[in-house]
Amino acid sequence: MDRLIQGYREFRRKRWPEERANFAELAKGQRPEFLVIACSDSRADPATIFSARPGELFVIRNIAATVPPYEPEETTHHGTSAALAFAVLKLPLRGILVMGHAQCGGVAAALDNQIAESIPFLSSWIDLLEPSRGRTAHILDDAARHVEMERDAVRLSLERLMAFPFVAERVNGGTLSLYGARFGIADGQLEVLDTASGNFNPVEVPVS
Ligand SMILES: [Zn+2]
Repeated sequence: MDRLIQGYREFRRKRWPEERANFAELAKGQRPEFLVIACSDSRADPATIFSARPGELFVIRNIAATVPPYEPEETTHHGTSAALAFAVLKLPLRGILVMGHAQCGGVAAALDNQIAESIPFLSSWIDLLEPSRGRTAHILDDAARHVEMERDAVRLSLERLMAFPFVAERVNGGTLSLYGARFGIADGQLEVLDTASGNFNPVEVPVS
């Protein structure tokens, strides 16, 4: 906890004075235009990667940036779906980005059953990646398959987003756009999904 308190004090000394007016405005209500669905992994933080200020991003993080299937029955606790519904129905969203990342442990667990075996709840969550496991089964090189599965898991989440009626309605009406990306931990490279081709293309960073 000492590390967190130390970090909080640093925030109050440096960032708070800069953001104070912003927070005063945000106290009246949040109006983020982007929802980012990312992995819980500590290395793939959307606010850091997109240089976002407080109030700019509504973020859902879970294992492997996974969107579960649309299951409207109220018999279980739909954490991700509840956050998605709130964001789409109550915030002025213009876009939803699903962001996977390199060295994703969730993807590793989907490719190796032993990883999730001793961790409660994880197996059934990881099972959600089964379609991507199948779609990458033809890639024989383990490392290449891992990378491709990180990308395909993003495609899968985007497909599942469209199964949520309130998402599909807005996408089809042109008021909401869906995007996919994958962040490279080691090289900092963000690659963005081109929905027309299904390929992920690196974002160029011009030297300023
Ligand atoms: Zn991950």
